[in-house]
Amino acid sequence: MESMMWLDFSMFLVLLGLFVYVFAVGAITVLHKIYFALHLVLMVWPLTQFIAQTMPGSSYRLFYLSGSYVGLSLVGVGWFIFVVFMTGQAKVIRTRRIVLLSVPALLSVLCVVINPNHLFLSIDEQLGVKSLQSGPLFWYMIVQLFSYILVSLFVMGYTIRRGVSVRHQMLVRTAMNGVFVLVLFGLGDFLVNIIFINYFSAYFSIFSVGIALSAVYLVHAITRHRVFDIIQIVQRDVMNTISTGIIVLDENGFVLEFNKVMKPILKSRIGDRFTPEALAVHLPNPIRREFDEFLEGSKERPMDRQELEIALQSDGHYRYIVVQSAPILSHKKKERLGRLLTFHDVTELRMLVDETNLQNELLHDRNRELLAMQDELFQANKKLEYMAITDGLTGCYNRRYLLQQLEHELAVNVRYGIPFSIFLFDIDFFKSINDQYGHLVGDEVLCATVDAVRATLRTADLLARYGGEEFTVYLPHTNREQADIIAEMVKESVEHNAVKYGSQSVKVTISMGVVSVEQFDQRALDEPKAFLRELLTQADSALYEAKYSGRNRIVKRKLA
Ligand code: GH3
Ligand code: MG
Ligand code: MG
Repeated sequence: MESMMWLDFSMFLVLLGLFVYVFAVGAITVLHKIYFALHLVLMVWPLTQFIAQTMPGSSYRLFYLSGSYVGLSLVGVGWFIFVVFMTGQAKVIRTRRIVLLSVPALLSVLCVVINPNHLFLSIDEQLGVKSLQSGPLFWYMIVQLFSYILVSLFVMGYTIRRGVSVRHQMLVRTAMNGVFVLVLFGLGDFLVNIIFINYFSAYFSIFSVGIALSAVYLVHAITRHRVFDIIQIVQRDVMNTISTGIIVLDENGFVLEFNKVMKPILKSRIGDRFTPEALAVHLPNPIRREFDEFLEGSKERPMDRQELEIALQSDGHYRYIVVQSAPILSHKKKERLGRLLTFHDVTELRMLVDETNLQNELLHDRNRELLAMQDELFQANKKLEYMAITDGLTGCYNRRYLLQQLEHELAVNVRYGIPFSIFLFDIDFFKSINDQYGHLVGDEVLCATVDAVRATLRTADLLARYGGEEFTVYLPHTNREQADIIAEMVKESVEHNAVKYGSQSVKVTISMGVVSVEQFDQRALDEPKAFLRELLTQADSALYEAKYSGRNRIVKRKLA
């Protein structure tokens, strides 16, 4: 008997040692805390059993035995909660339900503590080894205990059937062995110390050994398979804090896991088959069909990655979701374990792209407008330029342009000794044309005269209105003889040019002064403006002479 007492005590020490060990090696997580609680509960049994056996009086013994049964009452529920968290089912079962599910165990504790009318346990020292008399409430404790253990085994079996990772499966399997050991030893204890107590006529600490062994199993599982692995915890945290929705499906399309983002969107639970209907958002028929096809496609080509963009309308706004589907492969064998579905809201991105496109289009339009404006400006400029150098009525060059050109030409002609000539002509008796036919006809005659002159001149010759009805012609590369011939032709072309006016026709003549430059002196180079002035004065005086001597004639001058 004494040896059993010490066995209980040493088992307590084993448990205490393991407790300290687990506490020392791992990071503290929820699972840790639950494990510690379970471990404490497990420690109660051997300790109180030990103390109860050292107590001489039956009332003390009953007190400590009650303590051990309180512990025992909680072993089942403790295991159950631990298993729920370890297998990752906490999401499914939820905290509130766990509290509810703990009620049978708490009731059992109450029965042990109150022990109404010794309905739980009584001690009759007279009966020797059978001194412990268990009542119906004791049986209630046994039933709840085994029920919890059974449910735990069921949860673990379920997890193994659709475990996420091989490692997780191994962990659950090891824990399951722990529970089996506990059940086995519990049954042994139950049979030896309660049912068949008469045959053994002594107490054996079978359950204490079972508790210690199962705890050893568990600690082994925790340390070897690193269930409290910080990386795994971080991965879970990351999964639950990112904005991308994640659903993990097994190879048959059943939901294994989903993250926090998916929680309000997903109607289905872990273990359900995933379909488009599982989404809590209304999918219009065409989109649902598309999504169906997408999921079917994932099934048909299980090793492919796929992507689908769906537009969902909510409160009149569209949200664009990119759904990606990728296979989950095992690390070593590259075999397919399931499928990862991610839901990424790209509305903001879409809006940004749309906005950029719109801005781009606007910019493009603006650019086009600018180009058109530039073109218009160019045309206007050209017109302005033309207007600046031409005469509005006749369309020939104006005096300013002529003088400017002459200055430029002079420099070239002087340098290379190129001869050139100048005509200055004035319409004869033009005032009388105006007086007789009116200014409009006068204008017409002016233009017709210009046309006739222009038709006679060569392309390189430069005709300019010098003022009123007086015109100048610059004839480059033209010596005296050539100038005389051209002047004669011009004079004649005007003379024979009849301007039609109603049934009448108007004819005018011109008087012309011609100056030809064939030799250049230094003065032309040194003072080109003065030279030009003199040139024009000569032409003017020749014209005057032509007028004076009867009009409709040409007076030639040669500049020395
Ligand atoms: P002449 O030259 O033979 O001595 O006699 P004229 O009658 O032509 O006399 P002058 O050259 O001095 O007169 C020029 C006239 O031409 C004066 C003006 O009324 C007229 N005139 C000048 N410019 C224009 C014009 O643009 N249109 C019209 N219709 N008449 C003009
Ligand atoms: Mg005149
Ligand atoms: Mg005149």
